[in-house]
Amino acid sequence: MSTCRFCVEQIPDRAIVCRACGRDQLPTASAPKVTLAAIDLPFNEMVWLLLKWTAACMPATIILTFVVMVLAFSLNALARILI
Ligand SMILES: [Zn+2]
Repeated sequence: MSTCRFCVEQIPDRAIVCRACGRDQLPTASAPKVTLAAIDLPFNEMVWLLLKWTAACMPATIILTFVVMVLAFSLNALARILI
């Protein structure tokens, strides 16, 4: 038996809905809690993973920089026209 989070009524462990208040018992009751300690990677593999993530982020960074530059130049041109 466990306790309903909403009405503190005793309910069976596998209950999906509380029979006393009718509220859903699934989300936090059955969702596995993922913590940083659950990532069991050796240090060198973690560094390699971070390097790969950095490399994977490069195209997005280049594209974003390009978009910001185009916006800045077009705003500059607009300001020159208006002023
Ligand atoms: Zn309840």
